Amino acid sequence: MDISDAIKKGDKILKKNGIKTYKLDCEILMSQVFKKNRTDLILNSCTNLSDKQITLFNDLIEQRSKKKPVAYLIGRKDFWKYEFKVTKDVLIPRPDTEILVEQTLKITNHKSRLKILDIGTGSGCILLTILKERKGYCGTGIDICKKTLDICRVNVKNLNLINRIRLFKSDVDNFKYGKYDLIISNPPYIKKFDLKYLEKDIYDYEPKSALDGGLDGLFQIKKVIFNSSRLIKKNGILILEIAFNQTYIVKKILKENGYFIRDVVKDLAKNNRCIISIKK
Ligand code: GLN
Repeated sequence: MDISDAIKKGDKILKKNGIKTYKLDCEILMSQVFKKNRTDLILNSCTNLSDKQITLFNDLIEQRSKKKPVAYLIGRKDFWKYEFKVTKDVLIPRPDTEILVEQTLKITNHKSRLKILDIGTGSGCILLTILKERKGYCGTGIDICKKTLDICRVNVKNLNLINRIRLFKSDVDNFKYGKYDLIISNPPYIKKFDLKYLEKDIYDYEPKSALDGGLDGLFQIKKVIFNSSRLIKKNGILILEIAFNQTYIVKKILKENGYFIRDVVKDLAKNNRCIISIKK
C-alpha cells in the first residue's frame, strides 16, 4: 500500500468515527509513521509503506478513532514558536493559552529583568515560552505532580533553559520560596459537574487534575490568588487564565485580596479568557 492509499483509508475511518479534523489528523499521523513532514508526504504519495509502517499507522488511526488526542499519539504539541513534549500526564497546550504569553510580553515590554512564578506549570508551555522570548528573565515553576514535572524538565532541556529555571514539586499552599515580579497561572477551572460535558477527547484522556476546579470551578483559582498575595512583590503582576463566565467573580475575588484589575483579555473565540491584575 502506498502513502496516498493509506491516507485515504485512514481518512475514511476517522470520518466514520466522527473526527471532525480527520484529514489533518490523518496526515499528521502518517507524518509520524513516515518520519517526514506533511509536504514530504505529498511528494512521496506513491511511495510504498513497509508492513511495519502500515501496522503502526493502522494502530494510530484506531487510537484516534477512539478520540485519543493527536498530541498524545505523537507525543508533542506546538505552542507559540516552540514544540513541547506531552504525555497523558500533562494538559495539552491550547492556542487560547497563548494569550497569557502574548499579554505577559506586552505588559513587561519595558522590563529587562524579571522573576516569574508559574503555578501549576504542567508541560511548562507558558513559562518556558516567556523565558525563550525574554533572555533576561528567570522562572520558577511549581506543580503537584512528579510525572508532570518530569515532562516539564524534558521541555526545559529541549529549549535550553536549564540555567534560568527552577522546578519544584509543591502545592502552592506550601510553597514559600521567593518573591516574584510576575505570577502566571492557568489553574484547573472547570466545575466538577461540568467535566462530563467536555469533549470525549478531553474527558477520556487529559488529566482531570489539570481541569477540575472543584464544585464551583473556583477552588484552585482562589488558592492561586490567596497564595500569590504573599508570593508577589508590591506592584507585581498576576496573570490568570479563567473560564469565559468567571470574569465577574474572579474580578471580585482579586479586588477583595488587594489587587487592582488592569485588563480582561478575550481569546480567539472572543470569550474573556485572561485577567491581568496588579498587587497594590
Ligand atoms: N481551557 C481548558 C479546556 O477547555 C481548561 C483548562 C483549565 O481548566 N485550566 O479544556
